Amino acid sequence: MSQKTVDFSSLEIWFVTGSQHLYGPETLKKVQEHATTIAQALAASPGIPVKVVCKPVMTSSDSIYQLCQEASSSKGCVGLITWMHTFSPARMWIAGLRSLSKPLLHLHTQFNQELPWSTIDMDFMNLNQAAHGDREFGFIGARMRLKRKVVVGFWQDTAVHSELGSWIRAACAWHDAQQLRVARFGDNMRNVAVTDGNKVNAAIMLGYTVNGYGVGDLVKHVQQATDSQVEALTDEYDQTYTVTESLRLGGSRRQSLQDAARIELGLRSFLEDTGAHAFTDTFEDLHGLKQLPGIAVQRLMADGYGFGAEGDWKTSALVRAVKVMSHGLDGGASFMEDYTYHLKNDGQTLGAHMLEVCPSIAEGKPTVEIHPLGIGGKEDPVRLIFTAAPGKAVNASVVDMGNRFRLIVNQVSIVRPEHALPKLPVARAVWKPEPSLKVSATAWILAGGAHHTALSRALTSEHLENFAEMAGMEYLLIDCDTTVRGFKNELRWNDIYYHLEPGL
Ligand code: MN
Repeated sequence: MSQKTVDFSSLEIWFVTGSQHLYGPETLKKVQEHATTIAQALAASPGIPVKVVCKPVMTSSDSIYQLCQEASSSKGCVGLITWMHTFSPARMWIAGLRSLSKPLLHLHTQFNQELPWSTIDMDFMNLNQAAHGDREFGFIGARMRLKRKVVVGFWQDTAVHSELGSWIRAACAWHDAQQLRVARFGDNMRNVAVTDGNKVNAAIMLGYTVNGYGVGDLVKHVQQATDSQVEALTDEYDQTYTVTESLRLGGSRRQSLQDAARIELGLRSFLEDTGAHAFTDTFEDLHGLKQLPGIAVQRLMADGYGFGAEGDWKTSALVRAVKVMSHGLDGGASFMEDYTYHLKNDGQTLGAHMLEVCPSIAEGKPTVEIHPLGIGGKEDPVRLIFTAAPGKAVNASVVDMGNRFRLIVNQVSIVRPEHALPKLPVARAVWKPEPSLKVSATAWILAGGAHHTALSRALTSEHLENFAEMAGMEYLLIDCDTTVRGFKNELRWNDIYYHLEPGL
């Protein structure tokens, strides 16, 4: 799924090989050759989503420091992959790594896959010594308490490419978060706790900024949309979706579709003007808007914008991160809410929202419909209706625990609903949470997970775990191996860990 607001074409990962002068120029030339070969192989792999730039072999603390400075200030570099083909005394790396502000991955590989049993000599041993060179490098990472990912395996293995790719996707989302602006129309839904939090902490720890705007600022953009723009957009709706009869050209409620299109045009132009790639709204503050934005929000999410309803800026930023991470992958992602249950057998969740579910997760062509909305006191909103395609998915929530952000991820299987849902006027996804609804919901509630989530059919928990580690967020996974007893212990131990962590 490609999103218009996500672009990987200018992003790069730097491949950095460490060595030292001890071995002489001939060996260093070989090291550089091998590093270039590996970097080129990674660049050509379909599992690696960005450009791979091979840097010169590092042999001194000065060049390492300079490289880390360049990486930290580079607009396109999303992270470093490091590898010690030979031995690179790690004190040389301290100054550089201290100053590095980009994510770090340590690839523990070897240029030769097989031991050349019959020909192996000391020259081979001196060149192919990552087995101990990478341990020296590993020590300095541990000693400096660096956040880092370690990937072990042969550099041609697709499993290794997939691990690298997952981490690189997380690094792209982390890179995006550092300049992300979340626009909020209105505040939080009154008195709701879990969707609120500390925006200053978010800027310090996660990078993104959250800025409030009066809904009147949006209304101005809505009013500025021209009739011809509205006509072009309603034409696009007609061509892209199955539009219900009353909303069609000449239908009794065509005006409502035009109003919805005008809201979409206004929202788009507002977000483009402010440079925001994520936003929130709330049904409690819609002054001057005819409808709660429905189809507008749904289509903006499909273009890669993050969204959270009822002022939920944390979920909006998470949806954006998930959109960036899944760029170019099949499956889609959406803002979601655990809405209601089927409590038979192992249990199922029916996820939906008042309107705002992204059509990137749809099975088949969505319909455009209009139905009354019980709350908000506005005109009936136009929305896309569909059912999510079946398959594996992850459902994730971020909450503010005061001294840290916590990311809770549940592995789920989206299923086709057992029966038709002819009266349900919103887009929906029905899923079975792992390991069962009983254990999943117990763990989720003990962890304080929100009702609002980001649901992705394209990502795995590995992407989200990588992202959480880069962001310094607590990471809790609920999957087939989860037990309530084990999960409770994890919560207790994590509370102690995050209390002590500043002193580690
Ligand atoms: Mn909600």
